[in-house]
Amino acid sequence: MGIWAPGEEVAKLAYFGLYALQHRGQESAGIATSNGEQLLVYKDMGLVSQVFDETALNALQGHIAVGHTRYSTTGGSTWENAQPTLGATAGGTVALGHNGNLTNSAELVDLVAERYGSQRRGELARGNTTDTALITALLAGDPDHTLEATALEVLPRLKGAFCLVFMDEHTLYAARDPQGVRPLVLGRLERGWVVASETPALDIVGASFVREIEPGELVAIDADGLRSTRFAEIKRAGCAFEYVYLARPDTSIAGRSVHAARVAMGRRLAQEHPVEADLVIPVPESGTPAAVGYAAESGIRFGQGLTKNAYVGRTFIQPSQTLRQLGIRLKLNPLKDVIRGQRLVVVDDSIVRGNTQRALVRMLREAGAAEVHIRISSPPVKWPCFYGIDFASRAELIANGLAVEEIGASLGADSLGYISPEGMIAATEQPATQLCTACFSGKYPIELPPADRLGKHLLEQNELPLGAPEDGLATLLHGAGGATALDHP
Ligand code: SF4
Repeated sequence: MGIWAPGEEVAKLAYFGLYALQHRGQESAGIATSNGEQLLVYKDMGLVSQVFDETALNALQGHIAVGHTRYSTTGGSTWENAQPTLGATAGGTVALGHNGNLTNSAELVDLVAERYGSQRRGELARGNTTDTALITALLAGDPDHTLEATALEVLPRLKGAFCLVFMDEHTLYAARDPQGVRPLVLGRLERGWVVASETPALDIVGASFVREIEPGELVAIDADGLRSTRFAEIKRAGCAFEYVYLARPDTSIAGRSVHAARVAMGRRLAQEHPVEADLVIPVPESGTPAAVGYAAESGIRFGQGLTKNAYVGRTFIQPSQTLRQLGIRLKLNPLKDVIRGQRLVVVDDSIVRGNTQRALVRMLREAGAAEVHIRISSPPVKWPCFYGIDFASRAELIANGLAVEEIGASLGADSLGYISPEGMIAATEQPATQLCTACFSGKYPIELPPADRLGKHLLEQNELPLGAPEDGLATLLHGAGGATALDHP
């Protein structure tokens, strides 16, 4: 998120805004501020509440802030890859936060090497292996143009999903890819502006919703007010999975309440896959609105049959398989007296690998459920996402190669039903032509490069034109840039 608000404690506003966006990334968090003369950044691994304390926030003085919570898609989950990133420009510094995932990082590596030589510089020299570091290098590298002019030249070269907030000493910028894959909204404070991935981040800081940042739009906010420039034509392809799972239910995307969309998905699911049962229970939290919809439509009683350990995190947000398996056991606990002897409809938002649901069915049977019918408020996930969700490789996706009945059997469920693609799309109230549904359909709205030019660890390869990444902390401690930054590893 980004904040431009003279006279306000922008670091604290960003801090609370990031709380509202914590679900989008739990690996690291950071805030950069500018006081008009100097940029400071403070970032670390962990949740917002773990990274910041009063002392850190008080040190982040200024009237502009950029904040970020990271969920890694390009580049490992490391301190060096935490955001905001910093880049030294000819006239100052740029700090940047990125939501999304680029699909042409390999091409951008070539571009950075062509423009600025094969020696890694800035964040890239400090061991940052993300697509975000490439954008930062391109934005910061041109000494002959203003940051705004450079951005207008660089943004059309980026492919994939990108919602960016960035700033120099004087101006806050926000940009969104031409497809508008991920959400980005603009809000108004009494004395300033806020840009955030989701509307709850506006609500929590008391900002009123103004509008979405348009796909293909660059917005600049400074003492002269707000300027909007179009850098690409709109080719809308918003992520359908935001409505299913990723966004908070109290978010609104393209005018549609995410909560209302999820309830509608549950209703549709009940029409498409009815079953005789005693109780509808959600897999909390993201399955809850769809379970409410299923219960309302089917007339079957709704109940809470599972308790969530709220602070464990979302299972596929965590970076390794070991942590994921641990996450499943830590995440949910059945309410035995509610489910004993009951024929259950269990409503969940999606099945990725199937590990969660398999463990869940076993747990519910052990707790005394008479029958377990799984209902899923998204179609089968058969394809990987290259636009900002690190689902799994194709081979790991349970719906890749198995029919629905086979998946149900593999989970140990009495029956399994997925909402149809048409049903899910109808619930979003968006035209099908303006949504990305690639993980369900395999039809990618943004062209993908060959497989060897894609991948989470692309920038960690030694044979790139930029050479091997260095040890980030060692480089930082030896003073290669970031001298004014307030970081702690
Ligand atoms: S592939 Fe799926 S998760 Fe990724 S942007 Fe498209 S709809 Fe969203």
